[in-house]
Amino acid sequence: MSPSPTRVLVLNSGSSSVKYQLLDMRDSSRLAVGLVERIGEQTSRFKHTCLGSGDTREQNGPIADHEAALKAVAEELTRDGLGLDSPELAAIGHRVVHGGMFFTEPTVIDDAVLAEIERLIPVAPLHNPANLTGIRTAQALRPDLPQVAVFDTAFHTTMPESAARYALDPKIADRHRIRRYGFHGTSHAYVSRETARLLGRAPEDVNVIVLHLGNGASASAVRGGRCVDTSMGLTPLEGLVMGTRSGDLDPAVIFHLARVGGMSMDEIDTLLNKRSGLLGLCGDNDMREIRRRIDEGDEDAKLAFDIYIHRLKKYIGAYYAVLGRVDAVAFTAGVGENAAPVREAAVAGLEGLGLAVDPELNAVRADGPRLISPAAARVAVAVVPTDEELEIATQTYALVDAGRN
Ligand code: ADP
Repeated sequence: MSPSPTRVLVLNSGSSSVKYQLLDMRDSSRLAVGLVERIGEQTSRFKHTCLGSGDTREQNGPIADHEAALKAVAEELTRDGLGLDSPELAAIGHRVVHGGMFFTEPTVIDDAVLAEIERLIPVAPLHNPANLTGIRTAQALRPDLPQVAVFDTAFHTTMPESAARYALDPKIADRHRIRRYGFHGTSHAYVSRETARLLGRAPEDVNVIVLHLGNGASASAVRGGRCVDTSMGLTPLEGLVMGTRSGDLDPAVIFHLARVGGMSMDEIDTLLNKRSGLLGLCGDNDMREIRRRIDEGDEDAKLAFDIYIHRLKKYIGAYYAVLGRVDAVAFTAGVGENAAPVREAAVAGLEGLGLAVDPELNAVRADGPRLISPAAARVAVAVVPTDEELEIATQTYALVDAGRN
C-alpha cells in the first residue's frame, strides 16, 4: 500500500490575483509559495519560489484569466517536481471569504457547497466570485482530488445573537441576510490558539482580545477558544480604522454624502472602502511611511495615527467589558507584528485594566510569538505572528485525513 498523501496546496484567489502555498503536513513545512498579480491586464506578474532549491522565477506579461493563472502555477510546480498530478498531493484548500451563517466549519466542496457560496455573492460581491473561479479552475485541473473551502467567517459563527445582530427590524434584516458576520476568522482562530499556547494554557481556559492589524484590520473577543464578538460586520468595512477603509462611522454620513454631496452609491462605496482610513486621512496607508512622516513633524500623519490608535483603544476597552476577564491581548498581522509604536500607544494609559507594555521587550524584533508585557502584569500583551495559509492547510488536511481513516 502506498503511504497516504501529505501535501496540501492552499489557494487564495482574489479578484485579480492568486496567492498560493504548497505545504507538507508531516512537519507543516513550505515546499513552494507564489503570487500571480494583475490577472486580466497586460502587465500581469507571476512570482514563484521553490523553497527546497531556493529557486525564484518571475514572469511578466499578460495572464488572461484565473484559468491561465492556475495553469501557469501548475506548470511551475511541475518544473520543481511538485506537480498537481503528484500522488503526494492530498487536497487543495481554498480560502473563501464569505460563508454566511451556513458554513461553521471547513467543508469538502461539492455541487451543493458551490451553489451556497454562489448564493452568498450578494453579501460578498467582490470576494466570493473570485473564490468560486479559483475553486472551479482547480477542480477542472484535478477533478479527483478533494477540494476544501475554509471560510473567513466560520470562526465568528459562535457569536451570540446579541453581538451578531444589528438593531434592525429582524424581518428586514433576515430578508436581506443583514447581520454581523466578521472576517479574518482564520487568523483570529489561529492567533487566539497560539496565544494560549504561548501562555502555556489550554485555549478553553483563556480569554483573548486579538488585534489583527494589517492593511485590513479587525479585533475580536475570544472566550475559551470561541469568538464572542468581532469588529467587522456585514462586510469588512465596519470597525477599526484600516489602511484604506473608514471603519465605524455614523451611517447618516452616507445619506449626507448622497443628498448634500451629490455622490452616487458607487462613489461612496469606493470612498469608504478604498480612499478612507489612513490613506484618506493623510495620503499614506503604510504604517512605516506614516511613522517616518511623524518623525519629521508631519501633522497630518500624526492626526491619522492618533485617530487610528483612539479607535483601537476603544475596541480594547469594549472587548474587555464583553469578556469580563482578559488573560491576553495579542497583536498580529503586518502592523501588529512590526509596528512597536502602535502597540505601545494602543496600550498606553490602560494600566488600570492591568495592561502595560515593557518598552524593551516591545522593541525586540523577532519572528516568533512573544510576550511584550512586564513580568508582573495582570494581563499578558503578546505579539503573535499570524499564518493564515498554515491554518487553512491544517484545517484542510485534518478534514481530508479524518475522511480517509
Ligand atoms: P494585508 O491586510 O494586505 O494582508 P498585512 O498583514 O501584510 O496586510 O499588513 C500590511 C501592512 O503592514 C502594510 O500596509 C504596513 O502598513 C504594515 N507594515 C508592514 N511592515 C511593517 C513595519 N516593519 N513597520 C510598520 N508597519 C508595517
